[in-house]
Amino acid sequence: MLLYLHYFIKTVKRECIICTEDVDLIAFLNITDQCYHERKICRECVGKYIKHELEDNGNVRIACPEDGCTEILDQKDVKKFANEESFRRYERFTLKFALSQIPTFQWCLNPNCESGQDHYQGDKLPIMTCNSCGHKSCVVHGHPVDDDVCKECIQLLEDEERRIQEEESESYVSRLKQCPNCVSRIEKNEGCDHMTCRCGHQFCWVCMNDWNKPHEPHCAFN
Ligand SMILES: [Zn+2]
Ligand SMILES: [Zn+2]
Ligand SMILES: [Zn+2]
Ligand SMILES: [Zn+2]
Ligand SMILES: [Zn+2]
Ligand SMILES: [Zn+2]
Ligand SMILES: [Zn+2]
Repeated sequence: MLLYLHYFIKTVKRECIICTEDVDLIAFLNITDQCYHERKICRECVGKYIKHELEDNGNVRIACPEDGCTEILDQKDVKKFANEESFRRYERFTLKFALSQIPTFQWCLNPNCESGQDHYQGDKLPIMTCNSCGHKSCVVHGHPVDDDVCKECIQLLEDEERRIQEEESESYVSRLKQCPNCVSRIEKNEGCDHMTCRCGHQFCWVCMNDWNKPHEPHCAFN
């Protein structure tokens, strides 16, 4: 019987209303814990929907895509469907959102406590302390925290900072060139391609030729 059931589940397919393909029934997952409706969208399509919401709409409050359902996906729901990259993006966005000034309503994550409150952000870390039971939890990662820190959030902030620094140093390097005359580094900080070095040499940022001599054929100033 068990074997039969297993076989049954593996072979039964259902048409996904988004991609219209016949997909294994097991690929229709419950989207949030509060969803009690039929599952009509396959796992892959839910993943694509999440990616779209994040990347094209910049939305972290992602609602269940099933018809008529308004439940919001939490962190573990997103993790279930999104690929690694989308999930990282979701984490970053949620953290940014949680650190913004917008108050959001949060339920206390203590399973024995049923209270919830508006969580006012703008602190350094998105930790909510329940007014009723004192339980502390990370709003981004949805787990209890000791003290006032979430290690994952700190890691996330550090990664973000490193990413910004790397981007900045890359763009700094791309703004530097060596003067063909004295080889000292010269920074371009405005739109003009006509460079004047501190040695007095004038050259073209695009083709590096002497500004007052003919430019290279490919150069716009030729
Ligand atoms: Zn589908
Ligand atoms: Zn739903
Ligand atoms: Zn509580
Ligand atoms: Zn966290
Ligand atoms: Zn020079
Ligand atoms: Zn100029
Ligand atoms: Zn030139």
